[in-house]
Amino acid sequence: MSTIEHDTKTGSADTAAIEELHEIVDRQRAAFLADPFPSLDERRALLAALAGMVMSNRTQIEEAMSADFGVHPTLATDLIEVLGVAGRAAYVAEQLEGWMAPEPRYSDPTLYGTGRAFVQPQPKGVVGNISPWNFPFDLSVGPLTEMLAAGNRVVLKPSEHTPACSEVLRDMIRATFDRDRVDVAVGGLELAKAFTRVRWDHLLYTGSPEIGRQIAMTAAEQLVPVTLELGGKCPAILTDDSIDAESVKQVLGTKALKNGQMCISVDYCLVPRERMDDFARLAVEHVRENMPDFYSSENNTGIITNRHLERIQNLIEDAQERGCEVRPLEEGGEIDPDTRQLPMSIVLDPPDDLALMQEEIFGPILPVKAYDEIDEAIGHVNAGERPLALYVFSKDEQVADDVLRRTTSGGACVNAAAVHGALPSLPFGGIGESGSGRHHGIEGFREFSNLRGVFVRGEGDLIEAFAPPYGDTAQAVVGAAFEEAGG
Ligand code: NAD
Repeated sequence: MSTIEHDTKTGSADTAAIEELHEIVDRQRAAFLADPFPSLDERRALLAALAGMVMSNRTQIEEAMSADFGVHPTLATDLIEVLGVAGRAAYVAEQLEGWMAPEPRYSDPTLYGTGRAFVQPQPKGVVGNISPWNFPFDLSVGPLTEMLAAGNRVVLKPSEHTPACSEVLRDMIRATFDRDRVDVAVGGLELAKAFTRVRWDHLLYTGSPEIGRQIAMTAAEQLVPVTLELGGKCPAILTDDSIDAESVKQVLGTKALKNGQMCISVDYCLVPRERMDDFARLAVEHVRENMPDFYSSENNTGIITNRHLERIQNLIEDAQERGCEVRPLEEGGEIDPDTRQLPMSIVLDPPDDLALMQEEIFGPILPVKAYDEIDEAIGHVNAGERPLALYVFSKDEQVADDVLRRTTSGGACVNAAAVHGALPSLPFGGIGESGSGRHHGIEGFREFSNLRGVFVRGEGDLIEAFAPPYGDTAQAVVGAAFEEAGG
């Protein structure tokens, strides 16, 4: 049976790429059936190869990032796309023996005798990974660590917005892994759609909620299980005692990272009304003193395309037209069309129906919304979609705990922002509109594993009680159970 639908009718530039995808999946499926359960040593060797691959391709990765983004800080590439991925693979390799071990479960000796029950994590099979443009290696090769740790075969599908990174990704993967273990499918929208129609054993999608919804519907037609890593608006709640230079530095730091083009960036802040001016003053001071000439520097990332840049500029213009106070944190000159960098600005107390309070900003604009009581801030968060991440800044542990207990989000930080996403030990994912399922850590390993429940028969059991015709054994088991339950 063909594993993907042929799209030859489209006649698009993707026709060859779709044909190739079909071959890749068939090849991997055959390899999986021939060798369905790689050993611990084999998996560790794959993880070591993965880590070695990103480390030895560091320069190519850095150059590709700069080419696709117009400008991209090399140190950010090193930290996130190279060292972050290699560190994640090393952590997984270290933990893997314990994760792979069958996990014993209770079985009642009266009924099951010396029989044993356990959970056996086994590879799901052939897994697809559709990744977006904002972290081209971290979101393609990153989840590959847990996918390989779980023993799967994997096909990666990078974004069409990062052609240079996709080329490096494909070349280094093919130079490192057998194509029946890991491969890369590169193409445009038709390929992306065809990729979604493959009957994967599991599909990971990272991107916008809008496309995520379409992907979930297409996958559901063939009952393909999906992990959805989506976006949305991540709030930061600051309490009165934490309107200080350090909190402002943390918040602006995540906004400056990738010029705001990060799914767990602080999208907007909630600040006590009487401290709004203090927050704004601290923000201006922070940029003036610690980040002079930041926006047009090599430390700042370019907006990925002109279309994305226009969308961000429209959000600012819309706020200005509606009479909101938009305060640039840096005096901006012209936007260089090659680097697509623009200065960060804060928007003071915008109304909730403004576009920038409705859609994910994904750029260097920080709305700062006023609240009177903490309950109002919590209510504001809970009235919206459940976010991918939520941040609370408070010197009072009880207040921070209260905010964590009364809100729901995929991840969270206290007195920091986005750091939870850097830890390979913590599960990463969303809830509701921000996604479902997890990668990173043991939760990622389990997400990409089939958690098979196994019973191995021993001696002295009464399992014949379950099978008709029901006789004395069933009578005795039922009678004893009711007696024990007091019935
Ligand atoms: P994008 O445009 O690069 O699209 C993501 C992927 O979806 C690409 O590989 C693309 O080819 C594919 N795609 C697009 N249309 C498709 C279709 N109709 N069918 C199948 N595949 C299709 O990236 P984007 O969506 O602009 O990414 C930004 C969004 O991703 C933001 O909302 C951001 O918050 C979210 N995001 C989430 C995470 C996370 O871990 N939760 C991480 C990064 C980004």
